Amino acid sequence: MEIVTDPEVVIVGAGPAGLVLAWMLQRAEVPYVLVDRQARDEVGTLPKAGIVEYRTVELLRREGLPLEFDAENRRVEFRTPRTRHVFDYADLTGDRPHYVFPQHRLVAELVEALGDEGAPLYFGHRVTHVDPDRPSVTVGDTTWHPRAVVGADGANSVVARALGDRVRVLDRPLAARWLVVSARTAPLVGHTIYAIHPRGYAAHLRRGPDETRFYLEVPVEVSGADLDPDDLRRDLADRLGEPGALDGVEISVDDLDLRTRITTPMQAGPAFLVGDAAHLITPAGGKGMNLAVADAVELAHGLIEANHGDPGRRDAYSDTRLPVIAQTQGFSDWFLRVLSAFSSDALGGDGAAAFVDAMREGWVRRLRDDPLLARWFAHAYAGVDAEPAKP
Ligand SMILES: Cc1cc2nc3c(=O)[nH]c(=O)nc-3n(C[C@H](O)[C@H](O)[C@H](O)COP(=O)(O)OP(=O)(O)OC[C@H]3O[C@@H](n4cnc5c(N)ncnc54)[C@H](O)[C@@H]3O)c2cc1C
Repeated sequence: MEIVTDPEVVIVGAGPAGLVLAWMLQRAEVPYVLVDRQARDEVGTLPKAGIVEYRTVELLRREGLPLEFDAENRRVEFRTPRTRHVFDYADLTGDRPHYVFPQHRLVAELVEALGDEGAPLYFGHRVTHVDPDRPSVTVGDTTWHPRAVVGADGANSVVARALGDRVRVLDRPLAARWLVVSARTAPLVGHTIYAIHPRGYAAHLRRGPDETRFYLEVPVEVSGADLDPDDLRRDLADRLGEPGALDGVEISVDDLDLRTRITTPMQAGPAFLVGDAAHLITPAGGKGMNLAVADAVELAHGLIEANHGDPGRRDAYSDTRLPVIAQTQGFSDWFLRVLSAFSSDALGGDGAAAFVDAMREGWVRRLRDDPLLARWFAHAYAGVDAEPAKP
């Protein structure tokens, strides 16, 4: 590869976080390089996020990112074997919906926009060594010595590992597995469905006119590859209360083991972590990519201002981001317990499953009947700060 020799910043990873950061540095003319181990047409192809928060869209628009968000998602429906409740969270948050915008589209469009600007993106090159103190970043037989290195390299971040005991990692694997089912079919309804079922959680999420995402909670020892596809389709449709709706539909299935993680602080000297490299959150509530983008925007401002001689915002990056991340983890953790049957294992004891089912049902009824809880949920779910109380 033809190499930029003296970048100010090396970004490792071309996921949403790395690409948003690259876009902002490019605009501000801060010399940087971005390197990803995957080939250009491979990045962002794994089925991941699909729903973007209103505030993320506002943030990206404000920073001038060239993305068109059009399809809105305004409602979620909770379904249990006994209750159905359609919840209009956009209405409760002053008209702030989510946008349906799959992560692979966000990644592909940003790669293309940066490519059009001749940005220094290196695909198909794995970073093998990072020295966070000097700092240095090694790719094959090239070593860069930038002023800052940014780990935007996801859950198995080489940059995070290199930080060693400069940071503390709070890592929590959960006794829960979801099957991620990507289906070639139009959505069953025009909104998200969360099905709270004694056999485990199931979800329906819009992705596009002829693709839909489903989740199916299974015991940790069950893999999607071991299940008969017809049984899987039937179980999923039954839990969603739509028997037969998925018969014959083309699906692909991935296993997802749930875990949460927070790295604190998210920076050490000239090394910084953004997105999944810094923190992991389960997909309950759809928050991970939104946090990753917000990290990237905050750090980009810090690095740009530092490049102009003012390091204050860069140095405060971790302190600025961690409270929001912890709060979001708290919401997602609660929501996961409402959705999942697995929490009966966590609580244990005879009758635990039935007890947990009753609690999950109880939460849905409260969301339906209690305007205060409904308002809190709508704001936390949509990612909108509640308005301050009037004096
Ligand atoms: C099934 C699923 C559903 C989800 N749904 C949602 C949702 O609805 N809403 C939401 O907000 N979030 C969701 N998330 C979370 C979201 O996908 C992640 O939070 C998001 O991908 C984080 O982006 P990132 O840029 O930090 O990391 P990533 O997207 O993981 O990107 C990291 C990049 O780094 C590269 N890389 C890794 N190691 C190296 C190396 N050594 N050298 C060079 N390159 C390297 C990788 O190739 C990759 O391209 C979901 C996640 C999953 C798994």
